[in-house]
Amino acid sequence: MPLKVLSVASEAVPLVKTGGLADVAGALPAAVAPHDVEITTLLPGYPAVQKALGKGKLVHKWASLLGQPARLLSGSIGKHKLLMLDCPAYFAREGGPYGDAGGQDWADNWQRFAAFGRAAADIASGKAKGHSFDLVHAHDWQAAMTLAYLKLASDTPDLPAVMTIHNMAFQGHFDAKVFPRLGLPSSAWSMDGVENYGGVGFLKAGMQMADIITTVSPSYAAEIRQPEFGMGLEGLVTTRGNRVRGILNGIDSTVWNPAEDSEIPAQYSVRTLARRKINKRAVEEAFGLERSDGPLFTAISRLTWQKGSDVLLEVLDHLVGVGGRLALLGSGDKAIEADLHGAAARHPGRIGVHIGYDETLSHRLQAGADAILVPSRFEPCGLTQLYGLAYGCVPVVARTGGLADTVIDANPAALCAGVATGVQFDGVHYHALRAAIDRVMALYQQPKQWRRVQQNGMKADFSWDASGRAYAELYRELTERTA
Ligand code: ADP
Repeated sequence: MPLKVLSVASEAVPLVKTGGLADVAGALPAAVAPHDVEITTLLPGYPAVQKALGKGKLVHKWASLLGQPARLLSGSIGKHKLLMLDCPAYFAREGGPYGDAGGQDWADNWQRFAAFGRAAADIASGKAKGHSFDLVHAHDWQAAMTLAYLKLASDTPDLPAVMTIHNMAFQGHFDAKVFPRLGLPSSAWSMDGVENYGGVGFLKAGMQMADIITTVSPSYAAEIRQPEFGMGLEGLVTTRGNRVRGILNGIDSTVWNPAEDSEIPAQYSVRTLARRKINKRAVEEAFGLERSDGPLFTAISRLTWQKGSDVLLEVLDHLVGVGGRLALLGSGDKAIEADLHGAAARHPGRIGVHIGYDETLSHRLQAGADAILVPSRFEPCGLTQLYGLAYGCVPVVARTGGLADTVIDANPAALCAGVATGVQFDGVHYHALRAAIDRVMALYQQPKQWRRVQQNGMKADFSWDASGRAYAELYRELTERTA
């Protein structure tokens, strides 16, 4: 019998995605399947999920989930087994999963995702007929209340539970006045429960209740013990330190396969390094850049403080001054978006900017640009540097979190040993990024070395195999412990 896991996530590829969480939640089931683990994913019934699932099969009904009637539908997308929480009052909205089209968070997010957690706890404890689970795995604050309801208000508090933090910056912190409406016992209002700095902390609650807390890289697991990265929860991370693990994300090779990328026309696939030249021409054209064999940088990112987009902006004049070009794809902070357009206007043909979210274009950039800039101030794992490695687009990364764990800096020792895969720099500020760009420019002038760095990255194995095995081992360890 396979080990049955209920994975609770607010987004999953290919149905709904705002960031790396979706990539992980979408890839995890196939990654653990070879290890005799069967994952069923519970998702909110957003319009996109409703559409993909179709009618589904009704498996449970709630007369009231924090005040709203809801249904549970089951189905599948390919081999991925899904449960969908059908609750139109909470989830049938246009806009994003967490906010309206203008980027404003929904005011009732606490209620939407508390209800989601309440439903998940009910399902995990066997309330949905025909669905039983050995373990529950919650992702990020939106799913974290699952563990509070499971451990504090269910018939099965001993069911093993894993809480994965994909980004400590998003904690789901709400006003204390929502507490009485959560339907938790009054004893839950304590430091050992859901209370967090005088409010209700969803992620905090999940971390408090989890049997094991994981985050998405070993370095980030260590970093979140410090205030700078723990963002108020460093004390809890330290107290529960023996329960905190780091498991690196992998690349979903069905989506990101350089040799046969279904997102881009066949001729653009990076079967060989030589192919990249054709792709580079296509990127230049798409971004209105001058044709040149000089280095072409890319950045594919949310445009935020976390991602160091402000520092990237500061260094653009220098990047162009030393002969670089940039094709940037991103969206986020409106002021940064405007300044990027300004930089493109200042440097026509040298800086091209595409504001928006475009999956296909992101693949084409990885397949055609020479180097990808990832100047994140913190980065739990980071995926774009992994895609860069796989596609021969050399990552230039800040030495933090998963970026530190996945890129081998092209210092003289690593170049000599023939193991370098990218460029790392310390501290996200103008001078550090500028120096990193200068190092890229110098390395690019040595075609043999450059090629070697690209090839090393392309050989590096960041497939889901290793991560899938690590999650499966963790699930087994926990279920055997409580058996
Ligand atoms: P985060 O989850 O913090 O945003 P990650 O690097 O873990 O950062 O994951 C970001 C994911 O989103 C990657 O798959 C990346 O390719 C994708 N992405 C980010 N911005 C864009 C964009 N503007 N268009 C297309 N894909 C994007």
